[in-house]
Amino acid sequence: MGAKWLGSVLQSKTILKPRMETKPSFKRRLRTACWALTVALVAGSLNAAVAQTTNESNGHVSPWAPTELGQLPPVQPLTGGVWLKGDLHVHSRHSHESTNNPISKIINFSKSVGIDFVAITDHDVHVKGDVAHHTWADPEFKSDTVLLLYGAEWTTTRGHGNVFSAVPYDHQRLFDVRDQRDVVIGSIKKQLGIHLSANHPSGKDHFGYSYDIVNSIEVWNSSVWPKNANAIMIWDDMLSSGRKLTGRGGSDAHHGEPDSPDKASAHTFERKANYVGTPTTWVYATARTKQAVVDALTNGRVCVSSNPFAPRVEFYADVNQDGKPDMMMGDNVKSTGKPVKFKVQLTGKTQADSTYTVNVVKNGDPFNSYKVTGKNPVIEFTDTPALINRTYYRVTVEGPGTPFPQVPQSTQLSGRMVGLSNPIYFNFDPNF
Ligand SMILES: [Zn+2]
Ligand SMILES: [Zn+2]
Repeated sequence: MGAKWLGSVLQSKTILKPRMETKPSFKRRLRTACWALTVALVAGSLNAAVAQTTNESNGHVSPWAPTELGQLPPVQPLTGGVWLKGDLHVHSRHSHESTNNPISKIINFSKSVGIDFVAITDHDVHVKGDVAHHTWADPEFKSDTVLLLYGAEWTTTRGHGNVFSAVPYDHQRLFDVRDQRDVVIGSIKKQLGIHLSANHPSGKDHFGYSYDIVNSIEVWNSSVWPKNANAIMIWDDMLSSGRKLTGRGGSDAHHGEPDSPDKASAHTFERKANYVGTPTTWVYATARTKQAVVDALTNGRVCVSSNPFAPRVEFYADVNQDGKPDMMMGDNVKSTGKPVKFKVQLTGKTQADSTYTVNVVKNGDPFNSYKVTGKNPVIEFTDTPALINRTYYRVTVEGPGTPFPQVPQSTQLSGRMVGLSNPIYFNFDPNF
């Protein structure tokens, strides 16, 4: 990071890379014994789905072709939880290249801007995997108000990933297998019971592992929004291929404010451009606990805003058309084949008399854009998700930047990107 930030801002003219190619048809595990029986049981609209998945030249039907899913887990209540905001990628003095950033400074800053949770993710390779006796053992690693997740940046030859856990875990084991086959890594990850997340997946230190071993992907790294276009493209590819993968943010901040001018480093200038909260990840948690934060991240009830004071993007759907939302981002239901009403709302401090643009993405492609003004901007739209195939919708919101005086240059670097939601899912197989 550093001077190249501004360069990438100037180079990039598009916020969301347009997708030119058409998506391949979806594949799904055939779980019922007899495809023909399924076809016989469901009404005529299914014939279209069958035609799509049968190869007309040889009559071959893929055993992985889409079929009707069984009962999906019920959607969790939309009320009774709490919105919490945090930063999921911060480096302290336990990362060698970090400067002026002891843990106490990170926590005090977080408190001062209303941040609820922080993952201090120091490079594990700098301590040969022993984060338990460095970051976590630091006497400053404690807070009464900020929820401090246990984690580290898994820093490997094939890329970087962050671990998030509500409780201490044996990070050394994950460090030890970093060069092994993905199937081995996936097994260790499962045994450790951790949430693993792909970091800055495109460019330097791109994530060179299978996305089957991660629960989330860093789709917004640092205040420099335009450099994330490829991360968004990868996210859409993974979602379109059936992976229910949460998108999250992370500042990747390394450098704090020096206590005195003589302590300044060659990277101190970054402090005013990128620090804790640029961007801010919001989770809708069932309670104000570390475990609830990690669970919300895994479930995808998550959105990302340019900073802690920028409005939050909330995305809901009314599936049974009773005028009330039944699901929100991260939730997955079976499609009924009937139209669904979607609602996007910006919650928090919006800029007075400003127009926001809500861009809806459906299955990786632009679906529609809506302009909205007002103190509490809301847009609604209706669409019919496919009866059998998977469908997902997600939104990005552009508009005026929200000032963040504590990190004054970040607003310019984020440009008009206000925030993004996670998808609302239809027909995603939980056993994928
Ligand atoms: Zn990294
Ligand atoms: Zn990092």
